[in-house]
Amino acid sequence: EEQVNHYRNLNNINVVGRHVPEPSKTFDDYKVDVDIIENLKKCGYKEPTPIQKQAVPLMLEGRQILACAPTGSGKTAAFLVPIIQALHNPQRKGFRALILCPTRELAKQTQRECVKLSDGRGLRVHVISKIKRALTQYGSNSSQKFDILITTPNRLCYLLKQDPPAVSLTKGFRDQLDEILTACNGKDRKIVMFSATYTPIVAKWCVHNMKGLVRVTVGHRNA
Ligand code: ADP
Ligand code: ADP
Repeated sequence: EEQVNHYRNLNNINVVGRHVPEPSKTFDDYKVDVDIIENLKKCGYKEPTPIQKQAVPLMLEGRQILACAPTGSGKTAAFLVPIIQALHNPQRKGFRALILCPTRELAKQTQRECVKLSDGRGLRVHVISKIKRALTQYGSNSSQKFDILITTPNRLCYLLKQDPPAVSLTKGFRDQLDEILTACNGKDRKIVMFSATYTPIVAKWCVHNMKGLVRVTVGHRNA
């Protein structure tokens, strides 16, 4: 335990929560299928970044986390790897993972990274681009064509407000977050939050809505 804490200190990792697994030193330490590790290496990544070292093992255990790490520190792969591992292969069950990004550009970047890291699995990753098309595209039957939905909160809230809702999130999994949380009503739902900045309102929301919450911070806590 002392060694684990020393390794966290070396990597500037701070954790708050119960039974936090030790950080992974290498990609090979990740308890994931080998194809994912190969895809990480194919991206040219040599070793996990500090946020990846701690967030990945936590998410692989199904823990709900609030992660803060600086811009450019590899947060995207940190949440994508456990999602890809959990979803395995395509299934006609509707959206099984929902990724919310603050901007459309970030949503597209996240999609690109997701396609690379899931190479070979055939997972279908969808970004909502045209609202008008979305209104007809993801009715209760059509969302079965996709495994992962990546979007901005506004677009999703707009679609959920349609009667009947133009997007169905019931099969796999709701102010903006509450509405979305209510829409994600899968019984095994897991929530993770990744940000470069610490926002008290978001932290409070997490404490309220995420059972067994673990906070992971890399570097200084920016406000
Ligand atoms: P953040 O979301 O924290 O701002 P990104 O996920 O966009 O950061 O990652 C920043 C850059 O680092 C991207 O170009 C990404 O491909 C790259 N990257 C991610 N993980 C690693 C890694 N383990 N080793 C090297 N580069 C990485
Ligand atoms: P497109 O990508 O097809 O241009 P937009 O995202 O611009 O689609 O949306 C098309 C229309 O949908 C907008 O003109 C607006 O009326 C409505 N709309 C889109 N997003 C929202 C939103 N978040 N809240 C309310 N209305 C929205």
